[in-house]
Amino acid sequence: MIEVNSIEKRYERKIALSSLSFVVKKGELVALIGPSGAGKTTLLNLLASLLEPDSGELKVDGKPLSQYADRRQRARKIGLIRQQFDLVGQLAVIHNVLAGRLAEWSLLKSFASLFIPQEKDKAVDALKRVGLEDKLYERTSNLSGGEQQRVALARLLMQKPEVILADEPVASLDPARSEDILAMLTGLAKQENQTVVASLHSVEYARKYFTRLIALKNGDIFFDLPSHQVTEQQ
Ligand code: ADP
Ligand code: ADP
Repeated sequence: MIEVNSIEKRYERKIALSSLSFVVKKGELVALIGPSGAGKTTLLNLLASLLEPDSGELKVDGKPLSQYADRRQRARKIGLIRQQFDLVGQLAVIHNVLAGRLAEWSLLKSFASLFIPQEKDKAVDALKRVGLEDKLYERTSNLSGGEQQRVALARLLMQKPEVILADEPVASLDPARSEDILAMLTGLAKQENQTVVASLHSVEYARKYFTRLIALKNGDIFFDLPSHQVTEQQ
């Protein structure tokens, strides 16, 4: 599903990723772990086409990322949840979810799609799946951090990408909410046979919810193991 071939990425003279290679199969749940500065965000941003590699190649479904010319076509394949959630606080929850369906920053279209019943039904369905059916028209900024993270998840569910990328999806949440979001993310992805690559700080959560752990250190792979082979000390 994802092929990373000898990827290198520098910021000026600083090497963020050096000659990184790995393959992720369809349906795998991969946790990216490693200390701050290891290169996790850079790798996810490369996979999401927010950055270009200096050398090497990234393929999704056998096709180089650079050949997905159309942003919408790529968004159907690959969806990203970023640390900042990218939600618009002033908008109602359901408008944020509908905006994601269009995979671009067109709020006008989000409102327009409210008049398309099938689109609205899908957004309501996605919000039900994350347990927010009673907050459809709540202002998004009035929601707690955990609820906002669930809105971001609902938006991604509606977009139905084959690959879900998540950068620290639980960074700002307390332990109970973190487990809630991770269980939801990986559980729903499993149901749809989606592939997940998520960066995480906690090895404990990575082992509990993901099938494979890739640890980065100084822009390189430190270890790459099935989660059951990873010990607490690693
Ligand atoms: P993380 O939580 O992934 O460790 P960081 O704190 O490393 O995030 O980075 C947060 C943001 O700041 C990222 O968008 C990253 O690209 C940017 N950033 C990180 N390090 C630097 C740097 N040395 N110079 C400029 N921008 C940086
Ligand atoms: P992580 O997500 O694992 O914390 P990052 O990918 O954010 O790691 O950062 C990898 C390295 O690249 C770090 O040394 C960081 O300081 C550097 N870096 C990240 N973003 C930038 C940037 N925009 N400009 C300069 N250096 C950066």
